[in-house]
Order: sequence, then structure tokens, then C-alpha cells
Amino acid sequence: MSSNRWRGYSSDEIATLSDWDIFSPALCEHRCPHCSRIMLRIYMYTSRLTGDLSTQIWCSNCHSYSGWTGPAPDDVIVHDPLAQLPAEEFDALNKDEDTLFGYLDRLWEQGTLPQRITPR
Ligand SMILES: [Zn+2]
Repeated sequence: MSSNRWRGYSSDEIATLSDWDIFSPALCEHRCPHCSRIMLRIYMYTSRLTGDLSTQIWCSNCHSYSGWTGPAPDDVIVHDPLAQLPAEEFDALNKDEDTLFGYLDRLWEQGTLPQRITPR
């Protein structure tokens, strides 16, 4: 399956997500700004190199996605269910969108995602 069916969210679409509190302990699927289905998912992890927080969002319905990296919040702990994954395996997941988001969708369906967010 080709990964070119994935599309990046536009900056206007991203702007509509400003009301999404991604550091809420009640983190769950959000309304997708492209297809309007409540199927927008999220995964956050701390970069092993920089300590910054990387965020990936994707819609499993319309295959839109985006990602960004920024400072980790200091008032919550973002628990990473993949923290124990060896670096080579984690890097292999990032080879294309189908691999990464397919894997994360399975974690979501198993209940491993959404990840736990707890106050620090
Ligand atoms: Zn969508």
C-alpha cells in the first residue's frame, strides 16, 4: 500500500484545533478539522535526543496528519507506552506514514493509546 494517500493538515485546519487540550487527563479522539469525524488521534513522545516533546496527530478516517515538536510541559507527565521500545524499532516505525499510523492505530484499538497524562 502506498503512503502517498496521506495528506498534511493545512495551517487553517491546524488553527481550528486550538481548543483541543492535548494535556488533559481525559485525552481522547477529537473532531478532525478535515473530514469532521471524531477520529483524530494523537501520540506524544519525548525525543531521546533533545528531551523535547514530539507530537503526531492523524485521522484514521481521511488520512490527514501533522506533527510538531516543542518543549515538554512542566506541569504534566506524558506517559509514553513506547518508551521501552528499542531505538531501532522506534526508528523503523517512522519510515513512512502507513507504518507509523498503522502501528499507532493498532495501539489505539488495543487501548494502549490514548496515553495517560497525569499532573506532575
Ligand atoms: Zn479526518
